[in-house]
Amino acid sequence: MTPDPSLLVPLALPLLIVTVGYGVLCWIRPFRPCRHCAGTTRTTGRFTGRPRPCRHCDHTGLTLRAGRRATNALRRLR
Ligand SMILES: [Zn+2]
Repeated sequence: MTPDPSLLVPLALPLLIVTVGYGVLCWIRPFRPCRHCAGTTRTTGRFTGRPRPCRHCDHTGLTLRAGRRATNALRRLR
């Protein structure tokens, strides 16, 4: 039994579009706002509530996207 190609195209095409779109996004904008401080570079302490520099993004407000991190790791393997 061979799969009908007319059924595979509607399933594979959106997946391909999303994958290529995310790859282009990682190429154009490799950094995204930090999810811990929302790009403000400051967070509040857990117990004291005082504002502190965000240690997750090293006080930059930006973190590398997961796709770009994977691309960089694959490039380092070569
Ligand atoms: Zn941060």
